[in-house]
Amino acid sequence: MLTKRLILLMKVNRFVVFILVILLASPVYAGRARANKTAIKYTEDDTIAEIRFGRNLAARILGQIKTWDNDKVSDYVSIIGTALASQMGRSDLNFKFAVLDSPEINAYAIPGGYIFITRGAIQLMENEAQLVGVIAHEISHINNRHIVKKINLRGQSNAFLSSLGVAAGGGAVSGAAMLDKLLDEAADLLFEIGVEKKFETESDLEAIKIMIALNYDWKSYVRFLEKIDNKTYQNRREVISKTHPPLADRIRQIEAEAGKLSTKTFYGRKHQKRFHEKTH
Ligand SMILES: [Zn+2]
Repeated sequence: MLTKRLILLMKVNRFVVFILVILLASPVYAGRARANKTAIKYTEDDTIAEIRFGRNLAARILGQIKTWDNDKVSDYVSIIGTALASQMGRSDLNFKFAVLDSPEINAYAIPGGYIFITRGAIQLMENEAQLVGVIAHEISHINNRHIVKKINLRGQSNAFLSSLGVAAGGGAVSGAAMLDKLLDEAADLLFEIGVEKKFETESDLEAIKIMIALNYDWKSYVRFLEKIDNKTYQNRREVISKTHPPLADRIRQIEAEAGKLSTKTFYGRKHQKRFHEKTH
């Protein structure tokens, strides 16, 4: 089971109402229906397997890295994340958010809709636009099943489903072995290897699109990537640079895409004050 922190308790307070009004009143996000370039058709069984698998992987990660004991920040991240997921997230998933108590600067998109952001990443951010950009990037990884595709996670194997508690039946032993192998592969992708550059670019560009649609300052997202790239964070950067393509490449592509989408001189809102209030 996951910790209680992962379960979003949507307290109806003024802040939540404010965020929802802002996000829901924004121009309808046209990118909801994503073009799936591959021919793979994912079934309901595949999604069930993805969700069960993601829950296993999330639990494994939370067994190693604790969540940050800071309700104010985790509530804020969950509210922003949930509101964003309602705009751009796959409708067959329930997105959950948590902040990991780690000094690393990173965020992780776990199949099935679990998104973890590190304390180090939150502490490096300057405004809400950066948080929105990072969460949108991670939602996009999940929407596009980047890890699911890399490890070829499908629900058609009875044994595998059984090991995930989806279906009863024989073959549970081989199913459990299969589950372990896939969990190892997924953890390696998240923490060591990363996914292909084209997947990172795809997620960057989708993050920029939703930021522009929701009137958030997309340049703040670029600025956050630049901050990560800064020499000051050289040591910590090793981790993220292992799993992500060179940041300069990503920034170039983002600016090219944003140039096509946004002709305004006003880049959008940063919500710096609100971010500061919620994270300090
Ligand atoms: Zn990424």
